[in-house]
Amino acid sequence: MYGNIKEHLKNELKNIEEAGLYKNERIIVSPQSAKIKVETGQEVLNFCANNYLGLSDHPRLINAAKNALDNRGYGMSSVRFICGTQDYHKELENTISRFFCTEDTILYASCFDANGGFFEPLFTDEDAIISDSLNHASIIDGVRLCKAKRYRYANADVNDLEEKLKEAQAQRFRVIVTDGVFSMDGNVAPLDKIMELAKKYNALVMVDESHSAGVVGDKGKGVSELYNMLGEVDVITGTLGKAFGGAIGGFTTGRREIIDMLRQRSRPYLFSNSIPPMVAASGVEAFNMLEETNELQDKLHVNVEYFISKMQEAGFDIKPTQSAICAVMLYDAKLSQQYAEELLKEGIYVTGFYYPVVPKDEARIRVQLSAGHEREHLDKAIEAFIKVGKKLKVI
Ligand SMILES: *Cc1c(COP(=O)(O)O)cnc(C)c1O
Repeated sequence: MYGNIKEHLKNELKNIEEAGLYKNERIIVSPQSAKIKVETGQEVLNFCANNYLGLSDHPRLINAAKNALDNRGYGMSSVRFICGTQDYHKELENTISRFFCTEDTILYASCFDANGGFFEPLFTDEDAIISDSLNHASIIDGVRLCKAKRYRYANADVNDLEEKLKEAQAQRFRVIVTDGVFSMDGNVAPLDKIMELAKKYNALVMVDESHSAGVVGDKGKGVSELYNMLGEVDVITGTLGKAFGGAIGGFTTGRREIIDMLRQRSRPYLFSNSIPPMVAASGVEAFNMLEETNELQDKLHVNVEYFISKMQEAGFDIKPTQSAICAVMLYDAKLSQQYAEELLKEGIYVTGFYYPVVPKDEARIRVQLSAGHEREHLDKAIEAFIKVGKKLKVI
């Protein structure tokens, strides 16, 4: 009987709305890009996409997709191990392994699935998972699906991590799990220290490079490149849904036997469809583009530096970042929403975040920079931030 549930849901939805947490979608009627057109006809500069390298509408990826569409069809209608593997899927897995200097790679429909399917096949109630408190929801869900003992350490806090590793010595195997870049502050995981502790306390290391791959490190190979540790991390997960074209798809890459076991036992791999050929082909193209030249990575890094230095000059309070995520701190929930609205009127699309997405009294505007932004886009955004900042008495 729907009746009771309907009333219950209506109430819950009302509560969500009254708390100001109701999520609405904004309709875009152009390709994803630095400049987008929204349903109202307004053209805005986009500073809230994960389109870090500006590849979402890049002609090379579009052509690679069209070519695959013509040559390999539209969909696979199968999971990988039955009849859902084409040459493009294997090529993409090999390309990802080469990019991250790893032994093997397994594709998933998303990084959510990669994380969801990682723990349960490898760890049992004899083992320990030691996880950063700010890890992505998909890691948290993946850990929940596994019977291993859970330990949580404070965000990027290596002293706390060491305490948890000491406690976890009773277990058979240990794995330390962390995001490479944390999505709200843009800080990176202290991978050098984490690797030291992993050695000292005999633990595996798994890094989710979703926000860092393509972004962090001179060549965009993520935090393992930043710390000169390419090929040393046991397992990396990542997404094709952010820097690498933004379509869909995820992967787990790392030690050969681990990847092999995931192919045998990882449920999202065994029970969910293959990514389409065109997405696999464009994925290969995206990684190849980054291997050919550093142009996009360099441009992104220059853009981040330029934006942050100009914003600090103007007197804004910016969280220290080592990624393309720049948190402009406002410390007031209402102000963050008002600020974002005013910026939209100025043609700048950003998102304001507040509790419970970020800690209480740490409301902010999150700006995501991209190699797709030109200097004039950045200048326009900075100008708008200053104009609204003066109006709202933030600076
Ligand atoms: C975005 C993100 C994911 C999810 O990736 P999808 O491919 O979109 O499912 C997983 N982990 C982290 C850290 C992310 O930022």
